[in-house]
Amino acid sequence: MAFDAIVIGGGLVGSAIAWGLQREGLKAVLLDEGDLAFRASRGNFGLVWVQSKGLGAPHYQRWTRASAEAWGSLADELQASTGLACGLQQTGGVHLCLSDHEYEDRADRMARMKQEAGNHGYDYRMLDAREVRNMLPGLGERVVGASWTPYDGHANPLNLLHALHRAFVEAGGRYVPESGVTAAHAAPRDFRVSTPAGDFAAPRIVLAAGLGNAALAPLFGLHAPVRPQRGQILVTERTREALPMPTTSIRQTDDGTLLLGDSQEEVGLDLHQTQDVMAAIAQRAAWSFPWIARLNIIRAWSALRVMAPDGLPIYDESETCPGAFTANCHSGVTLAAAHARLFAPMVARGALDSGMVAFSARRFPSQPAI
Ligand SMILES: Cc1cc2nc3c(=O)[nH]c(=O)nc-3n(C[C@H](O)[C@H](O)[C@H](O)COP(=O)(O)OP(=O)(O)OC[C@H]3O[C@@H](n4cnc5c(N)ncnc54)[C@H](O)[C@@H]3O)c2cc1C
Repeated sequence: MAFDAIVIGGGLVGSAIAWGLQREGLKAVLLDEGDLAFRASRGNFGLVWVQSKGLGAPHYQRWTRASAEAWGSLADELQASTGLACGLQQTGGVHLCLSDHEYEDRADRMARMKQEAGNHGYDYRMLDAREVRNMLPGLGERVVGASWTPYDGHANPLNLLHALHRAFVEAGGRYVPESGVTAAHAAPRDFRVSTPAGDFAAPRIVLAAGLGNAALAPLFGLHAPVRPQRGQILVTERTREALPMPTTSIRQTDDGTLLLGDSQEEVGLDLHQTQDVMAAIAQRAAWSFPWIARLNIIRAWSALRVMAPDGLPIYDESETCPGAFTANCHSGVTLAAAHARLFAPMVARGALDSGMVAFSARRFPSQPAI
């Protein structure tokens, strides 16, 4: 089965890129595993988040900002073509500080982010306790302040994934579930992969298989040293108490539930939930907003982030097999617009823009030349 492009991985990253390729007029196939696969895209927190992304890596800060700025029109386009709303709210967002030490750390971090942003600008404010209380009624006594930026927001990540899949198929793309890639033959601009659903061929291929990229990349002269990092999330019952904007670890969904989360655990491919981490998440939420302690927790889950050694995305193209690309990141909700509208057109043109070289896996020193 021959296509213009193969995309491996039907999570947020692969779906956004595959849809972006269809938008560019290519005929793409999106190969995905079955329901039991590791899928960060079905278990994430749903922030479209800019503040704190890219300290020490201004190229990542700019990439994230560009995506957040394009998100509104991405959501409009998805809704117009699929009828599905992604629930985007770009209200600005805050990071709450529960001690003087946290506040000082945060202030230092935000100041450095602004400095690194240079002429691109970085609008933020450190809010003292009184200011943040005016902004977010019902805050607890422990909150000593917060950082705020206007760029942040949140969305419904499952609706986003659904909308990307539907838009891709409606634009003529072919989605093939239960088609985990088991073997590949790679030559310059000539890629053939085998799956339980058949064999596929194309002159371009994008590896967007999340954690699966680590094993797939070497087959194409690429490197994707990603590891799992577990995050646990709790969901409360619906409440009328309103949270006017998301925080880094607490957000209210459009149906009234609160999502509490943000653990970062190095436990390998382990999807268990643990009482100590869930208790710590609930405790911090109740310290932040004491009224949350009255709510019942109705659901909880864990999922695995896709992390590079330095926490930044990896976008790469193969030197030995031109036409093969990788895409990995741990902010696939935030970066959906960049993947569909900026990355996919580069793949369609056949080469990444020169500015993308900073995201190459060649930055990892232990790396053999590829
Ligand atoms: C707890 C948690 C909270 C998060 N919060 C946020 C947030 O607030 N905001 C944000 O922007 N991001 C957040 N993220 C990150 C975001 O969810 C991920 O960046 C994004 O989902 C990664 O998408 P992906 O498509 O790369 O990977 P995945 O969703 O893991 O999808 C990879 C896909 O590849 C398929 N695959 C793997 N191997 C193969 C193969 N050999 N052949 C075919 N298919 C294959 C898998 O079946 C899977 O469907 C969070 C993540 C977690 C875990």
